[in-house]
Amino acid sequence: MSEADAARRAEIAANLETVRARIAGACAAAGRSAAEVNLVAVTKFRPASDALHLFALGQRLFGENRDQEAAAKSAEVAAVLSAVPRDQWPEWHFIGQLQTNKAKSVVSYADAVESVDRVELVAALAKAAERSGRRPRCFVQVNLDPRAVRESGGRGGAHPDEILQVADAVADSGALRLEGLMAVAPLDAPPEPAFERLAALAAKLRGVHPDAVSLSAGMSGDLEAAVAVGATHVRIGSALLGGRPPLR
Ligand SMILES: *Cc1c(COP(=O)(O)O)cnc(C)c1O
Repeated sequence: MSEADAARRAEIAANLETVRARIAGACAAAGRSAAEVNLVAVTKFRPASDALHLFALGQRLFGENRDQEAAAKSAEVAAVLSAVPRDQWPEWHFIGQLQTNKAKSVVSYADAVESVDRVELVAALAKAAERSGRRPRCFVQVNLDPRAVRESGGRGGAHPDEILQVADAVADSGALRLEGLMAVAPLDAPPEPAFERLAALAAKLRGVHPDAVSLSAGMSGDLEAAVAVGATHVRIGSALLGGRPPLR
């Protein structure tokens, strides 16, 4: 390994340790076991080499939010890891807003799609899953900021009133597995009240779909608040890999 690679590995190792400690602390504060919370390392805007550093440090779960970037990066990582036994391969979660015409591509590499927010997308994913023989797990993304308009660069997600309809479509598709809910806290508001609403919606969903037990919430800035309400997946980018360019 070059000196620069070794330095980057050490930097990411320290960040990973800090994030794991934050998750452990949040779990302890909430009376939960740290084993209940899965760390999704968000590698968007970062090179495959960063994902490979994380892999070497034991990280297995990765998140990406753009199809083109995710397809290329997951392929690059798979090529490097071709000698690694299959059961140790990284798992990729797609976490970005998704157009139906990208469903086929996303299903070809994603083990889970966390941003399922409308019935038409479910149909496109199901069709792609049937054709590929893959069976991606689906999180229904909830929009916790009802004021946000998708077209304005809002962060996507189904209106809370639409969640069950989307979840039913996933469950009924036969080709997809319903995993639970996903959400991003509103940008300019404290995360706690939004995450409380999310937890209530997750409980309601479990009343209808008892196996849909996953809850993906929490990012670098608010993972503690998410763990406090029962998050099973936290999606962490900048705290692991450093600052990144603004989204738009
Ligand atoms: C980028 C992103 C994250 C990670 O955000 P950080 O603040 O960098 O931890 C989590 N979830 C989604 C949907 C994202 O797009």
